[in-house]
Amino acid sequence: MLLKNFNWNFKPQKLKTIFLIIFLFCSTVFLFSAEKDISLTFHDGPNPNSTPQLLKILDDANVKATFFVVGKMVKKYPELLKEIYKRGHQVAVHTYNHRNLTTLSTSEILSELLRTKILIKQIIGIDTYLFTPPGGRYNEKVIETAMSCGFRMALWSVFPEDHRNPSPIIYEKVVTNSRDGSVVLLHNGPPDTLDALPKIIEKLRARGFKFSTLSQLLAQGKGKHIVYPRN
Ligand SMILES: [Zn+2]
Repeated sequence: MLLKNFNWNFKPQKLKTIFLIIFLFCSTVFLFSAEKDISLTFHDGPNPNSTPQLLKILDDANVKATFFVVGKMVKKYPELLKEIYKRGHQVAVHTYNHRNLTTLSTSEILSELLRTKILIKQIIGIDTYLFTPPGGRYNEKVIETAMSCGFRMALWSVFPEDHRNPSPIIYEKVVTNSRDGSVVLLHNGPPDTLDALPKIIEKLRARGFKFSTLSQLLAQGKGKHIVYPRN
């Protein structure tokens, strides 16, 4: 009965409009539902004043992150490094003394990286291959020296300057600038970072982001623009 009463006399123009509406609807649904990947990285830890709280926030939100640790901090707080690793986060190197690598000799750069790598190996038994330079300062010598001992340098694509900004600014900068494949630089230290983090995770998740460690992100072919040398 329904079919009988249905008007099948569509004009081509009408059909075109209907297909256009269906196409626009489907592409909108696709754009908003497609899964996006992002990696949160934390520099400068471990730190007894903030690492336990940070780990709790990440655990509560079921997020795995990447910790770029400083060797001299690891030496002081090996139990915190074990805790980071035990909870499933990636551990990577942020040098031993947090010095500006561009001012150092080749052997000093090697020492900054290898001392930290060996210490991590002794404490949690894993090999690290990614490092990030303090202050983002690097040159060709830094990249080549690191490469000569099996390291690749990682930078970031989103930096809310959480070492000096209040929590609402940190939140705003991260959620506004995050894209599929983004690598976010945060610090394992500032209280404002800890304050902003749960809201950042909640907002990004609501927007379809999935949280991966940096190695997981790279294995998916994403985030490669922040890793040197490029190959
Ligand atoms: Zn740093």
